[in-house]
Amino acid sequence: MQFYLATSFIFPRSLRFRLFALCFVTTHLPLLGYIGWGAATGRIAWAEFIILTLATMAGAAGALLGIGALLNPIHALADALHQSDEPGRNRAAPTLPEVGDIISKLFAGVRRAATATREQIDELNIAAHEDPLTGIANRRGFLAQLDALPLSRRRGCIAIIDIDHFKQVNDQLGHDEGDRLLGDFAARLSSQTRRVDVIGRWGGEEFAIFYQDAIEDEASWSLARIADRMRQEPIGTLGGQPVTFSAGLCAWRGGPVTEAISRADEALYRAKRSGRDQIQRAERPASQAYG
Ligand code: GH3
Ligand code: MG
Ligand code: MG
Repeated sequence: MQFYLATSFIFPRSLRFRLFALCFVTTHLPLLGYIGWGAATGRIAWAEFIILTLATMAGAAGALLGIGALLNPIHALADALHQSDEPGRNRAAPTLPEVGDIISKLFAGVRRAATATREQIDELNIAAHEDPLTGIANRRGFLAQLDALPLSRRRGCIAIIDIDHFKQVNDQLGHDEGDRLLGDFAARLSSQTRRVDVIGRWGGEEFAIFYQDAIEDEASWSLARIADRMRQEPIGTLGGQPVTFSAGLCAWRGGPVTEAISRADEALYRAKRSGRDQIQRAERPASQAYG
């Protein structure tokens, strides 16, 4: 559109003549170069020059006819738009500036629609991958982030975490306080893990962490530090005792992540059966309790 407006001083009332002028000048540039070179060196061959000139003019005329035919639908569209602007009134065909105006309005409308659609898709994508209560990824978002990792980064540890006796939090402190506690717990996980680790709300009062490139000891220490802080600075208390969590841990060395997740889940249930408030590793006989 900028080029269209910038060249509007050439034949301002006829798009066809403007195109012809542009085609004529651009297709004759090689010939002009040849004339310049011939004049400078005195080696111009007149017969070839005349044949080349005629052939170039014929080519430019052919290009003009072709472009003119391609422009016909735009003129027809401009006519139709003008008729619909003022129904029942017979108007003269639009002038060139009017056609330019209509085309620019069409482009602006298409651009606006494309931007709005892109924004809606982005919003839907965020809504589909984010947990609205805690602001962290939901289960789908967590798995999508793992899926997006290059093969070389798909190694580390998966932890599945479950807040202990959360039903009692709701029952004793109210559902709103339960919601507040879930948000604070998610914030704790975010602030006490590294940027490369992936965290998500697995569902209800369960959370998941992918400790990228970490061995089980490192992931276990990180969880123990989070548990320690839950005691030093409780996000909530039940009967005067800080709210705690249990966790299951499993190493992931590539392969299907669902397998590592279900093994971490088994370890979590072992932690629950063993009295809660502890971390268990998958397929390891000894448990690592803290506290
Ligand atoms: P356990 O120590 O065995 O994990 O016991 P629990 O009480 O934490 O586990 P249970 O599965 O019995 O209860 C989980 C509770 O979490 C029940 C459910 O109402 C509550 N919950 C799930 N999602 C939400 C939520 O978004 N907000 C609130 N406030 N509560 C939720
Ligand atoms: Mg649970
Ligand atoms: Mg629970």
